Amino acid sequence: MGILEVKDVGKRFGGLQALSNVNLSVKENTVHAIIGPNGAGKSTLLNCLVGKLIPDTGSVMFDGQSVLGRAPYEINQMGISRVFQTPEIFGELTVMENMLIPIFAMRDGAFRMHAYETVENEREVIEQAEQMLEEMGMADKRHMHSASLSRGDKRRLEIAMCLSQKPRLLLLDEPTAGMARADTNNTIDLLKQISDERDITIAIIEHDMHVVFSLADRITVLAQGTPLVEDEPQNIRGNPKVREAYLGE
Ligand code: ADP
Ligand code: MG
Repeated sequence: MGILEVKDVGKRFGGLQALSNVNLSVKENTVHAIIGPNGAGKSTLLNCLVGKLIPDTGSVMFDGQSVLGRAPYEINQMGISRVFQTPEIFGELTVMENMLIPIFAMRDGAFRMHAYETVENEREVIEQAEQMLEEMGMADKRHMHSASLSRGDKRRLEIAMCLSQKPRLLLLDEPTAGMARADTNNTIDLLKQISDERDITIAIIEHDMHVVFSLADRITVLAQGTPLVEDEPQNIRGNPKVREAYLGE
């Protein structure tokens, strides 16, 4: 049994069957990549895992409990944190202020402005945020405006925000999309370090093969809304079915 078990998930948008018969088992403490051409249904699948979309059919179990019908914040509190495809930080806030948001969200179920106003009294929360920034090598940037961070550091901050919640499962949707090679490589190194040093499972959706082969223990290839193959990276690379799925791009 994996920490995440997806069974026969289907999702339709009007006339478009975006997902059908999706089965996926993510083993604890592994890095599992979900790859596939544009439009394959990767983001839709991820949205079904975090409560942003509700599948029409099938089941999604996290650590033996169904996530279906739960609100995104409840799923977050069950131990799933997510990094979005486009950066989701508040540019006008400082790095430290951004860090406080997910910690409060985890503790209180939602981020409340009054909690923010009384943050001076929230020593514990501040310490938790400071420690995470330290671990992520961003302590010196804590007072910086988040908008002025490099693309790579914005990602690093988002990942730090997720990790501050101490999730058991970290979900990432194309974390290196739009990045220059140097930032991409930094992000790969960071994710490797996280998976080596922490008791965490990572499921990563990725279009960039370089990123996937650098990180994944296991790969599921999604094409036209359904899994095509699931295997170890060395068996995916030369798989003719996978090549074919990518050829039309
Ligand atoms: P990927 O992330 O693999 O590129 P998506 O999951 O974003 O693919 O999209 C899969 C398919 O579903 C695409 O054809 C896309 O246009 C369609 N789709 C995604 N979200 C919606 C939506 N909210 N409404 C209608 N169609 C959607
Ligand atoms: Mg996508």
